[in-house]
Amino acid sequence: MQKKGRRKFIQTATLGATVLGTQYPLNSFSKSNIEINKPVVVSTWNFGMAANEAAWKILETGGRALDAVEAGVQVPESDPKETSVGYGGLPDREGKVTLDACIMDELGNCGSVAFLEHIKSPIAVARKVMEETPHVMLVGEGAFQFALSQGFKKENLLTPESEAAWKKWLKEAKYKPIVNIENHDTIGMLALDKNGDISGACTTSGMAYKIHGRVGDSPLIGAGLFVDNEIGGAVATGVGEEVIKIAGSAIVVENMRNGKSPEEACKIAVERIMSRHKNLKDIQVGFLALNKAGDYGAYSIYNGFNYAVKDPKTKILKDANHKMKY
Ligand code: ASP
Repeated sequence: MQKKGRRKFIQTATLGATVLGTQYPLNSFSKSNIEINKPVVVSTWNFGMAANEAAWKILETGGRALDAVEAGVQVPESDPKETSVGYGGLPDREGKVTLDACIMDELGNCGSVAFLEHIKSPIAVARKVMEETPHVMLVGEGAFQFALSQGFKKENLLTPESEAAWKKWLKEAKYKPIVNIENHDTIGMLALDKNGDISGACTTSGMAYKIHGRVGDSPLIGAGLFVDNEIGGAVATGVGEEVIKIAGSAIVVENMRNGKSPEEACKIAVERIMSRHKNLKDIQVGFLALNKAGDYGAYSIYNGFNYAVKDPKTKILKDANHKMKY
């Protein structure tokens, strides 16, 4: 595991990025005249509002961004009414709730679980993978056994409501992701703490009625989430296969490294996905990014993608800019 000794290097690292809409030269973040918006937490979709509140409790008292994002995304994970994340998530076509999650800290450490069943908080298991194993990713039965060994409890994640929705779906059994409908939706969260460090987390039950064994972008470092503490972080939501094909979140962070604002960086990634398709019907993808200055932005293919922001001055749900009207 990368240890804290790297912090000094991070603090003095060079960086070219945009601070509150302005282009800044390399090294600007190590100079004290740049106003940094911190702490700040951003997360995808409406459920990000409540999730941000949980993260904020940790951030405002000087806690670590990593702890904040883990606590934040656990709010929708444990809410049975949220049908696209954790407990209560819609199942695959065999009626099984399978979960994907990953987490990444300011030192570049990361942990991930995919195709995990019976565990209410996959993000907490992902963090254990990061901190307690020499690996980055565990999947399926192996991830489940690892979770049990770490003290997690086996639980039934299929609520009566999600089971009823699945039985209804079985009558026609057509797999059809729908733009902005909560048969999918991931919570991706990024936080910049008072210390100026960024971490991120991403967790989902994936696309409803997927083939048993399907894994999307959300547990894949570089696709559903990427953090580089010298630059910023990004998360993705929407049709995971499209995000994986362009290494979406890594691309967003690289765009910020090349001087783009968070929104511009997200837009370029969206355009890359769009350029691969003649027909974008039913393909929604959104990216959300946060940079080292606490500047944030998002962009999606279609309207309807929103994200929650909490910082010392703001507590809002914002609509992302987008390419097309659905
Ligand atoms: N990206 C998620 C997946 O493909 C779903 C979503 O965010 O809508 O599993």
